[in-house]
Amino acid sequence: MEIITRQSKANTAFDRWRKVYQVPKWVGTNKEDITNKLCALGHEPDPDEVDAIIGNSSWTNLTACDECKTVGHSILVGLGIDHEYSCHAVVLCHSCLCKALTRWCAEGAKT
Ligand SMILES: [Zn+2]
Repeated sequence: MEIITRQSKANTAFDRWRKVYQVPKWVGTNKEDITNKLCALGHEPDPDEVDAIIGNSSWTNLTACDECKTVGHSILVGLGIDHEYSCHAVVLCHSCLCKALTRWCAEGAKT
């Protein structure tokens, strides 16, 4: 389980970017240059700076909740992480996570 925010995505953008574009040689004309700029931002880069270097916000924006499909959340919970690709099998918003726990408790599930 992982809490996902724009900041957490910015923190992993460098590693994810490198995994996608350095396979094993650089794929794309400016990808190595972008990688070097992302690396220079350090371990906790400003998400807006990551977006500016990459040229879009797709590497820091949060996806839609997998249950209710709404977008625009500032925080999500990720379940079932795939460490190789730093992605999750399921991401849930606060509302859907609470609904699941409420239902769990209402049905008397203890474990
Ligand atoms: Zn949801």
